[in-house]
Amino acid sequence: MKDKHFETQAVRAQLERTEYNEHSTPLFLTSSFVFDTANDLRAAFNDESDDFIYSRYVNPNTNEFIEKVCLLEGAEAGFATASGMAAVFTTFMALLKSGDHVVSCSSVFGATHAVFTKYFPKWNISYSYFDTGKVQEIESLIKPETKFIYLETPTNPAIELIDLEAVAAIAKKHNLLLIVDNCFATPYLQQPVKFGADLVIHSATKYMDGQGRVLGGIVVGKKELIHDIYLFGRLTGPSMSPFNAWVLSKSLETLALRMDRHCENALYIAKELEGNDKLENVSYPFLPSHPHYAIAKKQMKAGGGILTVTVKGGYEGATRFLDKLNMIKISPNLGDARSIVTHPASSTHCKLSEEERLKVGITPGLIRVSIGLENKEDILNDLLQALK
Ligand SMILES: *Cc1c(COP(=O)(O)O)cnc(C)c1O
Repeated sequence: MKDKHFETQAVRAQLERTEYNEHSTPLFLTSSFVFDTANDLRAAFNDESDDFIYSRYVNPNTNEFIEKVCLLEGAEAGFATASGMAAVFTTFMALLKSGDHVVSCSSVFGATHAVFTKYFPKWNISYSYFDTGKVQEIESLIKPETKFIYLETPTNPAIELIDLEAVAAIAKKHNLLLIVDNCFATPYLQQPVKFGADLVIHSATKYMDGQGRVLGGIVVGKKELIHDIYLFGRLTGPSMSPFNAWVLSKSLETLALRMDRHCENALYIAKELEGNDKLENVSYPFLPSHPHYAIAKKQMKAGGGILTVTVKGGYEGATRFLDKLNMIKISPNLGDARSIVTHPASSTHCKLSEEERLKVGITPGLIRVSIGLENKEDILNDLLQALK
């Protein structure tokens, strides 16, 4: 499958057929597996064995999903988890020890930020944030006990971009791991491994499923790192359920098609909204006016499905706009077939102080719009009538 194209891999990477010659992958709802002899079971418990033992470890369905994502990301191995945050947390716990230090971009997903700020101190792990726009800051933050550099690009919710190649070069120079949360871009638009990332994390809940049905997460990358994450995960139980893996593997079959449409719709709407007199700003990676447009063009195939608008009139203006929308609903989610709006200052990032929010570009009037798969004129018209 490695020699095939993305779309083909997403459709055709599948488990071997069973004796029933099924066309589509069956669902293996079984918590455990049986062994013909005592010796077979003993052999399976070797850490290096890939026999199916128990579905907390791996299951045929999670395996299919993992193998597919590895092909799509160009990664060696992976471990699938119950949610995106389980992938983030399992990766941190498997790789870090007391005394370690992490350098991260400042605008990380809200729950990841909470892990850094609320729980890292409890385990004597420290972190430093670099300003998303300033990768040159990273080197001054590195300490002898730094273990990895962590980042998201495009960032949530401010839609800023970080130069993957530049950060990978810094990581390599200082012998650090580079971990990238690639949730916003998906492997269809951006493959961080190609630019030198060691591990790539996804919330599969977002674009990978793309239809708002299941939670899921995955971490893929270097084999020896994944092996450590897998051994920690199979003991502590953050594993993905076979049912969710089955759904997600099907979802991936349409990822390329969906992303093409998300990107087409989002670019069209960003262009139409830019310059609107009710807006202070429109931010989308593939708008030439975006300050990181050159980075977006270098590392992304298209601009993705998320844009932000900054409504005039701050908090009040944003609230009035949100309440006037008809079709588009208010939800903290993103990456769905349905267009969604989120007001980060009052929801996903409400736990941050005003100062912390402004530091990562979250102004009171900022609204994140996850552009869905509806007809682009209908999405635009709803946004325009609410702006009026
Ligand atoms: C949603 C999200 C997560 C967490 O994923 P869950 O599946 O909700 O646990 C992590 N990172 C980013 C960038 C996200 O958008």
